[in-house]
Amino acid sequence: MGGKRIMKAIVAEDFGEVSLKNVEMPKVKSSDVMIKVKACGVDRTDVIAWIKKEYVAAGYRTRQKYKFPVILGAEASGEITEVGKEVSGWNIGDRVIPEYYTDMCGQCSYCRTGQYNLCPYSKGKGELGRSIDGCFAEYCSIPASSLIRIPDNLSYEEACLTEMVAVTMHGLRRAGFVKPGEAIAILGCGIIGLSALQICKASGCTVVITGTSRDKDRLQLAKKLGADRIVNIEEEDLLKVANDYKGVGFYKDMPGFDYVFVAAPSPSAVEQALRIVRPGGRITQIGHPHSREPISIPYYNVLDDITIYGTSVNTREDWERSLSLMAKGIVKVKDMIKTYPLEKWEQAFKDFWEGKVIRSVLIP
Ligand SMILES: [Zn+2]
Repeated sequence: MGGKRIMKAIVAEDFGEVSLKNVEMPKVKSSDVMIKVKACGVDRTDVIAWIKKEYVAAGYRTRQKYKFPVILGAEASGEITEVGKEVSGWNIGDRVIPEYYTDMCGQCSYCRTGQYNLCPYSKGKGELGRSIDGCFAEYCSIPASSLIRIPDNLSYEEACLTEMVAVTMHGLRRAGFVKPGEAIAILGCGIIGLSALQICKASGCTVVITGTSRDKDRLQLAKKLGADRIVNIEEEDLLKVANDYKGVGFYKDMPGFDYVFVAAPSPSAVEQALRIVRPGGRITQIGHPHSREPISIPYYNVLDDITIYGTSVNTREDWERSLSLMAKGIVKVKDMIKTYPLEKWEQAFKDFWEGKVIRSVLIP
């Protein structure tokens, strides 16, 4: 073989030092496959690597561990172009997405019971686009054990967002999913809130979804995706809205929602959830907190048999369930995507961070 093969990639050398540059193509380890990246979604952790100073200046924190220099990009899809010597079950041409965690210890009690999202020994190791090179690049070498096959009828652009749907799925699964007829409030209308909306509607629930004035387009999309009621919390009092809803079946006399799905990373959103859930109801909190700000829970709430579920990322079960619902058209993400070529990464990061698009997807 001749000289080094070069590709384009978005590399973070340090916080605030992110650029598109030419780098050497990765080498495929014996347990890896090479993928030609077809699409890769921008998420907040990508943007934080770029704007950390402003982020911290705004009083926020991140727990994410980056190992610089690193190629950013975690939410990817691609086509296999090379298969490592020890890999079986995958072929050149297969359409795949990688899981975010690629290097689990596999030995601790969490890993052995399928809860590897909680593995204390793998934190900061093998996290795609954070501690190992990710997919804002033309090619990426990925451990075969973390690959999942994309169903035929799902585009690369849609499939790369499976991770977000899987986060949603994990939150719903933690709370025992939802039951037909339940009255549900979803706080927040980003991709997680909008995915939760579609799953809850497909499950036969009544769904109220909230946003603010800057979410006008997202709330309209929520309506299109089946929301029974959209609420701009700057214009309408959510406590009053909650009084219009009652629990299902046995709980029909109880005002408030059976279940509140919080897809907004702020303590005030959880506090709001506690005020609108019915006694005996459940709450799921999704999302990376921006700070260590405490959540204030009125002590009398302990008399109400309310359960709050915290969630951490997702596991393979959530990915598989999500892909299957996306392939059946039950969860549609197409209208949440804006695509950009790799060269326009700054615009893609900016538009996403400023909320101008629900999800920026880079096409290398
Ligand atoms: Zn483990």
